[in-house]
Amino acid sequence: MSDKKVIIVGAGPGGLSAATILAHQGFDVTVLEKEEEVGGRNGPVSLGPYKFDTGPTFLMMKFILDEVFRLTGRNIDDYLECVLLDPMYRLQFDDREVICSPDHKAMQEEIDKKFPEEKGGQMDKFLSWEKNRFQKLMPALRRDYTSWTSLCSRELIRSLPYFGANRSLFDVLGNYFKEDKLKLSFTFQAKYLGMSPWECPGGFAIIPYVEHAYGIWHVMGGLFKICEAMAKIVREEGGQIYLNSPVKSLLIKDKKVGGVLLEDGNTLTGDYVIINADFAYAMENLMEKNTLPRYNSQKLAKMKYSCSIFMLYLGLDKLYDLDHHNIYFARDYKKNVDDIFKGNKLSQDFSIYVQNASVTDPNLAPEGHSAIYVLVPVSNNQSGIDWEKEKDPFRQRVLDKIKERTGIKDLEDHIVEEKIISPLEWEKDYNVYLGATFNLAHSMSQMLYFRPPNKFRKLKGLYLVGGGTHPGSGLPTIYQSALISTSLILKEQGIDIKSPLVWTPGQAQSLS
Ligand SMILES: Cc1cc2nc3c(=O)[nH]c(=O)nc-3n(C[C@H](O)[C@H](O)[C@H](O)COP(=O)(O)OP(=O)(O)OC[C@H]3O[C@@H](n4cnc5c(N)ncnc54)[C@H](O)[C@@H]3O)c2cc1C
Repeated sequence: MSDKKVIIVGAGPGGLSAATILAHQGFDVTVLEKEEEVGGRNGPVSLGPYKFDTGPTFLMMKFILDEVFRLTGRNIDDYLECVLLDPMYRLQFDDREVICSPDHKAMQEEIDKKFPEEKGGQMDKFLSWEKNRFQKLMPALRRDYTSWTSLCSRELIRSLPYFGANRSLFDVLGNYFKEDKLKLSFTFQAKYLGMSPWECPGGFAIIPYVEHAYGIWHVMGGLFKICEAMAKIVREEGGQIYLNSPVKSLLIKDKKVGGVLLEDGNTLTGDYVIINADFAYAMENLMEKNTLPRYNSQKLAKMKYSCSIFMLYLGLDKLYDLDHHNIYFARDYKKNVDDIFKGNKLSQDFSIYVQNASVTDPNLAPEGHSAIYVLVPVSNNQSGIDWEKEKDPFRQRVLDKIKERTGIKDLEDHIVEEKIISPLEWEKDYNVYLGATFNLAHSMSQMLYFRPPNKFRKLKGLYLVGGGTHPGSGLPTIYQSALISTSLILKEQGIDIKSPLVWTPGQAQSLS
């Protein structure tokens, strides 16, 4: 146990996971959140009687979240009702639809039916080879890279051939499948990282693998319930969460971070400060220019960022018969992806993801109504797209696209509540640098040792959690970032929390 004081800037999933673990270990934890609710990008959107997740709707690798709860001495089932989805999602191409199931036999049958030209597909080969990759990569993804000696670590060296640094995700899926649309069914997941399947390192084939091996979960009430449950645990453990409390800057003296200055002029001192706010936003705004030359404005501008997202949340006074997760691919998916990542323009024909969680969860809309969440990947704000001007016409194009692709013709007659978040609002209201919703890109030059560290070498007492640090963006990796960063603090205090997911030197345990 330790009674050291920890200040956490931001109550997103990263900050709250760290807060629960440290509060349980006796640390005096204070979380400062600028908004009136916890959750950040994983918080709720409430529109009248309708509830939506702001961001994450796919919960994968739930075992990492289970472990965060276990490390607080609790069982996740006492706090959340998690439901394994089957089917996981429906993929709609121009000429066929593919229903993806975590049941491997059913998935193989679907491949045989929808892709007869594949002559059997290679689901078994995909699962067994990617399981091997997953087991090789996990030890490297679980460890910290705060020292250059990590570059010589056994975990990293053993994993290197499996990162697929010289091949794209799309290429790697060619090991198992021939048909482009079948490859896309296992590579569109690059969008979770805000990347193109043709650019994303091949090692990320572990993402479709973990979906098919461990499934995709929904949390009843919405995924934002995870953050609410974590906030409850922090308070149960005696920690403090202050809402409507934006942090203005870090208090830094003699290369040591000793606390924070709030926007209201108050200061708070602590032994450790953990930043959960968006990484590049924090480097730009929470410290004086050039405090960390490696992350000064010019260097930040040169880093690579994920795409952004145009969001539409629709409260509808009609129950629609759509699956829980539906992905509609642009007819020319490659062109759509190139427009986002290279052309920096809005595509004529674009892909959309439509979530209709009301079919699984009655808590999100009144009986007979629907709460529909629409996500459209678009370029981040490096594109220069003028969203003040584009927002309304693009909204109409998105509604037209839903009508065209889903066959729901009367959508506009039933909208009773509506909210838009464009790349502009991600940047302005959510403090997301360039509106790059999935944080820094996950190219090899920005991963592992080269991603912003869990613990800063040049500023004592300062740590990072969330999508901007190692291992990366996405709920499971964000929880893992909290496991890594807190384990470094705990280690400094002589506490070993003994967890299969928390790395300790020399340990390279694999997961099955
Ligand atoms: C639309 C969308 C869909 C996504 N879908 C998925 C998905 O299906 N599955 C998945 O695994 N991941 C998904 N993600 C990615 C990722 O899981 C989420 O973005 C996640 O919420 C990021 O968590 P975080 O802890 O890094 O940061 P955030 O959730 O952004 O939390 C940071 C917190 O810091 C606060 N803050 C910022 N500045 C200050 C300040 N100055 N003072 C005090 N507080 C401050 C913010 O208000 C926020 O609460 C999605 C993301 C988006 C945007």
